[in-house]
Amino acid sequence: MAQREETIQDYFGQERTLVFEEVTNSEPTLYFEDTVLKACTHYIRSYRTEALPGRKIFKHPFQNTQSISAYANTRDVAIFFQNVLKYSLSDETIAYYISSIQCVEDDSNQKQDKEAWWSPKLQQAFFGQSQVNNTLLCFAVSQDIVAHEFTHGLTSWTADFDYIYESGALDESYADIFAILISNFHNPDVGSWNWEIGNGFGEQGCAFRDLQQPSRCNSIFIIDGQTQQIDHPKHMDNFLHLTYEQDNGGVHHNCSIHSYAAYKLLISQDNETNEYLFDVSTVAVLFYQALKRLGKQSGFIHSRLAIENIAKTLFRKDSTIIKQKKLGAIAAAFNSVGIY
Ligand SMILES: [Zn+2]
Repeated sequence: MAQREETIQDYFGQERTLVFEEVTNSEPTLYFEDTVLKACTHYIRSYRTEALPGRKIFKHPFQNTQSISAYANTRDVAIFFQNVLKYSLSDETIAYYISSIQCVEDDSNQKQDKEAWWSPKLQQAFFGQSQVNNTLLCFAVSQDIVAHEFTHGLTSWTADFDYIYESGALDESYADIFAILISNFHNPDVGSWNWEIGNGFGEQGCAFRDLQQPSRCNSIFIIDGQTQQIDHPKHMDNFLHLTYEQDNGGVHHNCSIHSYAAYKLLISQDNETNEYLFDVSTVAVLFYQALKRLGKQSGFIHSRLAIENIAKTLFRKDSTIIKQKKLGAIAAAFNSVGIY
């Protein structure tokens, strides 16, 4: 067995450099597995009828390029966790970054499973497929969706939030924040970032959430017997108190308040130089260190306090003026959404 590196076009026509596991029997076969990085992608027709993770994908001439995107996106998350967060896999967490994709690899798999999730039990991610512009598209072609699901793994190995009410919304928010950090990692110009989660996969081709403009997306709840379509909030004044039956207490709705604070933090500029105060790696470390200090029932305010505490240590080598500007920007970001 050997590692083989190849550069291939993904679903969007972008060149992706991938590492495959080469197994030679009568002829060489390249599997979607990187035994050094410890990341792999499997194919499954239906998680309802087959056992996850399904079969390992191998490279072949009629490859659906969606699977190339899926594997490349899985690898990118593993590389980010390893290089930026300095996260190393351990026995307590997972041995491998495994993604299973339901993807049109042959004509028999035309079924929609409009879902993507992290399985805490199996410690792996699953990505179904959805009809988008008359094409069955696997959720794993979207880098932010892949990063979102694997970040649920990261939150489970750290804060391990209860997935209900405000702590559940915090779990969703951290997953969205890291999704944005990872999918925009190679673009140093925060001003031109894409802040959407799952663009094209939401209702009528929209995104699921938008960190820059939360109200571009909405949730549908039944409140007082009435079906209501409610824009995602960006302030605690609009925090929705829902029952457990309604999206685990609105975890995919209220999350946008905390995420909007992260957006405000990321776009903070020095008022003299107009330069961004934070770079993507620093923000990633800041939020990751905060995750390690949070717990099952943490709420938005606990996240703010953890981030502010870590920032004091993280920015200790900055000049007093710069440090004050950074701490001020963090405070302003959370104040602007009413987390205080
Ligand atoms: Zn999620």
